[in-house]
Amino acid sequence: NAKRLGTAHYLVFSEDMEEERREAAIHHLRLRQAILAGEIIPYYQPLVDLRSRRLIGLEVLARWRHPERGILPPSEFIDAAERAGLIGLMFESILRQASQDAARWPDGLKIAVNMSPLQLQDATLSGTVLDILSQTGLSPLRLELEVTETGIVHDLGTAKRVLAMLRTAGIRVALDDFGTGYASLRMVKELAVDRLKIDRSFVVALASAPESGRYVSAIIGLARALGLGTTAEGIEDAATMRRIAAMGCDLGQGYYFGRPRPMEGLDSWLTCAAEGIPIIPEIEAQAA
Ligand code: C2E
Ligand code: MG
Ligand code: MG
Ligand code: MG
Repeated sequence: NAKRLGTAHYLVFSEDMEEERREAAIHHLRLRQAILAGEIIPYYQPLVDLRSRRLIGLEVLARWRHPERGILPPSEFIDAAERAGLIGLMFESILRQASQDAARWPDGLKIAVNMSPLQLQDATLSGTVLDILSQTGLSPLRLELEVTETGIVHDLGTAKRVLAMLRTAGIRVALDDFGTGYASLRMVKELAVDRLKIDRSFVVALASAPESGRYVSAIIGLARALGLGTTAEGIEDAATMRRIAAMGCDLGQGYYFGRPRPMEGLDSWLTCAAEGIPIIPEIEAQAA
């Protein structure tokens, strides 16, 4: 009896697994079609110089413009893209669209494009990136790549070579979500990154837990000692912005300055950049 029950159990279990595998395969196929059909599009969020309050660039954040489900955030599809081996294809599509858009923006505005650490294991990455830049006419000096350090880089040698080729072309590299992931000081050194992006959790905590100021200061001090730039993510109000600026962080990003918007929504920001005037924080524009 027990044996029969066990077998029945096993059957149900295996049917579930089969079903899950089938669903994953369908999802992956659908995601591939979405990338190829241009449904994965760039949204843009301001990167602001904390001294002058001027827009210096935009971070490119992927969205899935799903025909039935509307605009989907990266949490709905980035992991799946990594598992399905589609992250490189998605990156190329996003980089191409963003480079085309940025080629029409005021000169000097940079774009920061997110990348999976998996891509640092792909020796053809720098060739692919440089091809896309030359096809779209965007200077490599205007591109920064943000490595989201949520995964371990297995083959450090390949990662170093890939980054060295990108750097030789003038492309800069930032370590994203610094302080929360797997990045050690050794990684900062070996990968020779140009900028640390202080994770939003440290910045948001400033308001409620004053001791987190010490962590933010420590990261800024570390960056300064190593000659690296710093960006604070997740600035949601004026007080946090002032505090972060006083600590010596160069750049800021967050809902205070503006939420991510599609290309059609960028006009007011691009006008400020073209005229060299500070951008009007979205929070204050709403309050007015
Ligand atoms: P990230 O690179 O750290 O990007 C910042 C995230 O914080 C974005 O979420 C942004 O909308 C959000 N954010 C910005 N300011 C604020 C704020 O003031 N408050 C709060 N609560 N959130 C803020 P999003 O767009 O959902 O992206 C999430 C993550 O998905 C990104 O984190 C990045 O790791 C990943 N991602 C986005 N686009 C791509 C992509 O094209 N490729 C890859 N590999 N990853 C991507
Ligand atoms: Mg990022
Ligand atoms: Mg980040
Ligand atoms: Mg983050």
